[in-house]
Amino acid sequence: MSDSRVWSYSAVLMGSPILLKLFSHDEALASRVFSLIKQYEDLLTVNRADSQVMDINHAAGRHPVVVSRPVYELIKCAKAASLLPDSAFNLAIGPLVKLWRIGFKGDSVPAADEIAARLRITRPQDVILDDAAASVFLAQPGMEIDLGAIAKGFIADRVRDYLYQQGVSEGLINLGGNVQTLGAPQGGWSIGVKKPFAAAEALVGSIEVVNKSVVTSGTYERYFEQDGKLWHHILDPRSGYPLSNELDSVTVISTDSLDGDIWTTLLFGLGVEKGCALLRQRQDIEAIFVSKNREITLSSRRQFRFTPLDASYRLTD
Ligand code: FAD
Ligand code: MG
Ligand code: MG
Repeated sequence: MSDSRVWSYSAVLMGSPILLKLFSHDEALASRVFSLIKQYEDLLTVNRADSQVMDINHAAGRHPVVVSRPVYELIKCAKAASLLPDSAFNLAIGPLVKLWRIGFKGDSVPAADEIAARLRITRPQDVILDDAAASVFLAQPGMEIDLGAIAKGFIADRVRDYLYQQGVSEGLINLGGNVQTLGAPQGGWSIGVKKPFAAAEALVGSIEVVNKSVVTSGTYERYFEQDGKLWHHILDPRSGYPLSNELDSVTVISTDSLDGDIWTTLLFGLGVEKGCALLRQRQDIEAIFVSKNREITLSSRRQFRFTPLDASYRLTD
């Protein structure tokens, strides 16, 4: 939104651009928010050798690891999402993410037998949880948890809670695609839905939300090209290859960004038709599907107003 009262603060954390918008000039608060994000990054990252998640991964096949309560609860939630029927979400996808290296140096299509071998150590059932001890045990050697699809949502919710605690009633945090909003300046926050494979500022539309999270997952965010094909970073836990269907992106509108994160992956796996059918049973989750054939499908419009901004895209009924 363009509003002269808005103060924007930015940082790069978790390999992602982070943007905080506030309605007061408060450098100290912004820096406390960035430290909070950094603290969670330090607990959850798998891009460095040490974090609580890496402690779990290093102990795979050997022993359980006790973690802090928030990390435990996040892993528990990620395991539950992984065990839903036909779930495309899998918290134990780590060995495949590391093999493909999509978005990191040296990414290339792995050998089929390597993919098959790694698939055998990605079973969410083999993530053994102990509620009383808050411990996590990966039952197979070589297993690795990867929270790349869910950690930003979890952290966005913690930032929202922190801002409310600090007396902030209107604000926005964007963690590289996970947007969480507080309040309703000028009646609502206007959030852009990116045009896939276009310039960063190109949008297919925008939505207006109040007190909602808006999360987008897209094939265009991290990918490489090889053999005339595009290989993106949302992997199909059933095949070990990038999910392949009619979609370029899914945007989910929900109260908690954690739900948005889980649902973007679930819906990516289901595709437009099955995804919309499932969402008809949910009052609390809504989605915008952007398809490769330039169609935009809205699951419904209860919690947001959608404005199309690109005439080359068609809004389906
Ligand atoms: P989403 O679509 O939400 O998630 C895709 C990511 O989820 C994949 O990149 C993979 O990690 C994982 N994934 C893939 N398939 C599945 C599946 N089927 N089920 C579950 N998960 C799946 N990037 C850097 O370049 N450098 C860094 O140092 C770095 N540090 C990070 C630290 C943290 C704590 C986090 C959360 C992310 C970090 N990242 C870093 C970014 C990270 O590597 C991913 O690119 C990012 O989390 C993807 O988020 P997304 O919302 O774009 O995609
Ligand atoms: Mg995400
Ligand atoms: Mg994304």
